Amino acid sequence: YKAKTSGRGQHVYNTADDTDATTRLKTVEELRTALTTDQLVVHYQPKIDLDTGEVHNVEALVRWDHPTRGLLYPDAFLALVEESGLMRTLTRVVLQVALDQAAVWHAEGRPLTVAVNLSGSTLIDTSLPDEVAAMLTARNLPPGALQLEITEEFLMADRDRARSILTRLRSSGIQISIDDFGTGYSSLSYLRDLPLDELKLDRSFVFPMVDDARAAALVASTIGLAHSLGLRLVAEGVETKAAYTELVRLGCDQAQGYYMSRPVPAAELDLWLSARDVSATRTPKGLVGAH
Ligand code: C2E
Ligand code: MG
Ligand code: MG
Ligand code: MG
Repeated sequence: YKAKTSGRGQHVYNTADDTDATTRLKTVEELRTALTTDQLVVHYQPKIDLDTGEVHNVEALVRWDHPTRGLLYPDAFLALVEESGLMRTLTRVVLQVALDQAAVWHAEGRPLTVAVNLSGSTLIDTSLPDEVAAMLTARNLPPGALQLEITEEFLMADRDRARSILTRLRSSGIQISIDDFGTGYSSLSYLRDLPLDELKLDRSFVFPMVDDARAAALVASTIGLAHSLGLRLVAEGVETKAAYTELVRLGCDQAQGYYMSRPVPAAELDLWLSARDVSATRTPKGLVGAH
């Protein structure tokens, strides 16, 4: 069969268009296979502490190493995963892989906290806290080795249940982060009543901040908002030295973005971290950026 091709020449699975039902069915079958083999791979992107330049947190981002189509990014397959009821399975696979990697890092004396993205269909699953606790115990990892990133749209569906699941997770010591903060429509109301550790400011505010005074004002105020609630603020989508420097100046806690590192396989992150360990000894605090 022929995969659909978008204008940019990328393979896309247009979930709104089911005229190609056979292709979709085949892709769902391929997804099922991917989930039980090692076709799902996880890349890691560091979150840099802006006061010290150190890295204590990394985000796990899933990719599909498709046997014929090459490496596929989440935008190309996550919607289909969700629609075909496979998200719960995917989340377990990513958690297993990411926690295996965290255990390796801990054993090597690099106790990184790994952040895993959770979708809404996972947050209605009341067995999640116990399963996650068991996964940590099985690897002899402390709960602080895991962070969960939740997108606010997903909190809307069943807010009470989401809150109760998050409360159980967080009281066990797992860190909770709100992803893409600022893009949803009820940001302030859930800040009032959800158990949280971190806000990740969406890159649509961070990217323009150097040239756009309004965006910069929003970044600065969000840092203040987070701090007044005792939360850490992470800026995502830091692509330039100018943005990085400005975030340091504004007192942002952590930054993540292509300027420092793209998401990369664990082995590549290890090299990046080692190079940083060396350069940290000769670079001023807080100004450690890209290599
Ligand atoms: P996200 O969690 O907000 O992750 C950040 C996305 O922005 C990643 O895209 C990352 O590669 C990209 N990014 C990082 N730094 C920069 C930058 O400086 N500039 C720009 N333009 N982009 C940057 P990616 O890996 O394609 O992931 C897209 C989304 O897919 C993620 O957004 C997350 O919502 C979702 N996702 C990824 N992995 C998983 C997973 O294991 N489970 C679930 N449920 N969702 C996942
Ligand atoms: Mg995320
Ligand atoms: Mg994000
Ligand atoms: Mg995002």
